[in-house]
Amino acid sequence: MSLLVVGSVAFDAIETPFGKTDKIIGGAATYITLSSSYFNERVNLVAVVGGDFPKSDIALLQKHGVDTEGLQIKEDEKSFFWSGKYHNDMNSRDTLVTELNVLGTFDPIIPEAYQNCEYLMLGNLAPSVQKTVIERLKNRPKLIVMDTMNFWMEIAMEDLLKTIAMVDVLCVNDEEARQLTGEYALRKAARKILEMGPKAVIIKKGEHGALLFNKEEVFYAPALPLEEVFDPTGAGDTFAGGFIGYLASQNSTSFDAMKKAIIYGSAMASFCVEKFGVERITNLSDAEVEARIQEFVKLVSFEMVVA
Ligand code: AMP
Repeated sequence: MSLLVVGSVAFDAIETPFGKTDKIIGGAATYITLSSSYFNERVNLVAVVGGDFPKSDIALLQKHGVDTEGLQIKEDEKSFFWSGKYHNDMNSRDTLVTELNVLGTFDPIIPEAYQNCEYLMLGNLAPSVQKTVIERLKNRPKLIVMDTMNFWMEIAMEDLLKTIAMVDVLCVNDEEARQLTGEYALRKAARKILEMGPKAVIIKKGEHGALLFNKEEVFYAPALPLEEVFDPTGAGDTFAGGFIGYLASQNSTSFDAMKKAIIYGSAMASFCVEKFGVERITNLSDAEVEARIQEFVKLVSFEMVVA
């Protein structure tokens, strides 16, 4: 099934209690496409970078089956740059720098070959740009999943609400769900988000797993307890890539398929945090992915007779 991913492709500089990186490849769409590439032979990408973005990093995406016809290269401009510093608990972070650069004027052009898109992942980007992508597709995809963050809630809330109303699944973390709705209890926050338009909402809770809600049901997937967490950057996007990548590979949008997709997303995110940046998710074998899924199955399976 054809999967289209839109989002930032960026330079990141990351600081964790374990070390620091200079500018390395990052961005929401980078993590999403790499993660979903484990379940789909081809993943289409619409994004923008500056002339400073290394050709070798574009080649890395292509090696993973990412089609880059929709990746615009603005030779005379600079790529989006984000820098963040993690606290000791590795669950929270401060954004140190957000330089939009090429993202500030991004006009998402959809190549004709991508018009057959059936699964659309709107990665973190200005909500007005995410909305333009939906409007430029001649046919509405079977499933539109959207991610966003506090940055856009602070500067573009009106556009954000308009875009949320157009998607099927919203994927946010617990802090973002609270900021978006003004509700502390996540169940209430989820209900308010469902009233905004989406049919389902995913609320990620970092090392505490993820919740999936629709109007009738709730499903919870834990995160795998890992011995070492090295760098959580991109975990949310890697999760989203596993989620939509699995659904696209199964060509299903049912709630049951979404439950499995949450496990695939969690498994991919558990790899992402084991090394800095994209390193771990660029070097996985299918057998490693399968084994990790089995670890999740074991983690949550138990037999119980209720008297
Ligand atoms: P995550 O850790 O999954 O929340 O995502 C981290 C990625 O999001 C980094 O690679 C950043 O480049 C990217 N990012 C951070 N802020 C923004 C923003 N305002 N718009 C688009 N992408 C962003």
